[in-house]
Amino acid sequence: MSDYDYDLFVIGAGSGGTRAARVSAAHGAKVAVAEEYRVGGTCVIRGCVPKKLLVYGAHFAEDLRDAKAFGWDVPPQCDFSWPRLRDNVLSEVDRINGAYTSTLENHGVDIIHERATVTGPHSVKLAGGREVTAERILIAVGAKPAVPSCPGAEHGITSNEAFHLDAIPKRVLIAGAGYIANEFAGVFHQFGAHVILINRTDVILRGYDESIRDRLLQISMTKGIEFRFHAEFEGIEKGDDGCLTVKMSGHEPVTVDMVMFATGRVPNTEGLGLESAGVELDDKGAVKVDDKAQSTCPSIYAVGDVTNRVQLTPVAIREGQAFADRTYGGKDVTVDYDCIPSAVFSHPPMAGVGMTEGEAKTTLGSVKVYLSDFRPMKNVLAGRNERALYKMICEETTGRIVGLHMIGPDAPEILQAAAIAVKAGLTKDQFDQTVALHPTMAEELVLMK
Ligand code: NDP
Repeated sequence: MSDYDYDLFVIGAGSGGTRAARVSAAHGAKVAVAEEYRVGGTCVIRGCVPKKLLVYGAHFAEDLRDAKAFGWDVPPQCDFSWPRLRDNVLSEVDRINGAYTSTLENHGVDIIHERATVTGPHSVKLAGGREVTAERILIAVGAKPAVPSCPGAEHGITSNEAFHLDAIPKRVLIAGAGYIANEFAGVFHQFGAHVILINRTDVILRGYDESIRDRLLQISMTKGIEFRFHAEFEGIEKGDDGCLTVKMSGHEPVTVDMVMFATGRVPNTEGLGLESAGVELDDKGAVKVDDKAQSTCPSIYAVGDVTNRVQLTPVAIREGQAFADRTYGGKDVTVDYDCIPSAVFSHPPMAGVGMTEGEAKTTLGSVKVYLSDFRPMKNVLAGRNERALYKMICEETTGRIVGLHMIGPDAPEILQAAAIAVKAGLTKDQFDQTVALHPTMAEELVLMK
């Protein structure tokens, strides 16, 4: 034990901070974690977990519509209770929040329910005024929604508030066309809202494979979700009736009941006092770290979204684990950022790992591309004209799979398993040597032409 109050002081009890705190304590460090809101962070409290539960809830709208073809008589008008789903989801969030808290407590981590700001290389100040010292400080404060500055922006909500709505609005406008925009567009649409997405470019889900993105766009538009592209947000006016009129460049104004900003997330470093310890930030406010999560101040480290590398929960967890194992467990480990699978829980969902076709062509020159464009058998019987698309991109000479992308039912579940093979460097031939598991959608992976 050092002369400090703690060996490690973690700021932020989200996915990365919690893992780092728990594992460091398990390795024998004296650890405290400060959290100004709720233990669990974005993923558990206002991100992945409640979002996925809403996605499950939303999917019933289609399942109920399809049920008739499968022999079930469902009343033509099924009632949906948003408050019931919302409250059940929030109870589940409470349960997981409790589990996270107990895990930390069981490992002897001191949980401090206060905002902490850095006052020096080894010191933090708590909101209540107490000063605490630590040999090392880990910044794991995550990110927050970026709201464009425009007149009336205060009338819009972000994904943070979406889980607490009193009712599902009839008309929803979502600004942005990335992960959050497309996931919530699907959810609100299935719950009966008319949804309009507006984006400053005509690219949705930048970074995903073009064919997969195009398929989502086409399916979403067929469902009735509207898209307005090349539209810069100019402002929101609130009428006496509570309706919101959104002005944007290049398009007529639109009047809706709710506006949601899903225009990216910014690192939560404002007012954190990092400059007092010489911690350098990049132009987006992210903590600059090396491959060992160390900032420009040797005693201060950072993991997760606050470093703005890969804004995904499992990555933050790995970064937290690696930090703890390296610093207190004597292991020489770093995080491998190659071939990280990701998914968008849109309707239908999409998922991918490795390079997109465009990236592969730029990086490798010529590549071989295999496609499977099919109508899942469940959709056929349901009379649902929605097609799935799988794309495999291979190195031309070796056949090694360098990218695998898909959209269709259960795409994220299927992709997670296939990503192991892609990460392991398997080839198209090796996939094809595996006998198809029939009848599944995943069998397309070993039958691609
Ligand atoms: P994204 O980065 O996915 O998308 C942001 C969208 O907003 C893009 O369409 C972008 O357009 C647009 N945009 C960005 N800045 C502006 C601006 N100033 N004015 C107008 N439009 C703008 O961000 P999200 O907010 O959807 O999600 C944040 C991050 O959270 C994701 O990047 C992801 O890492 C993570 N996340 C992951 C999920 C998952 O794993 N399923 C789910 C939800 C979030 P353009 O492309 O033209 O720049």
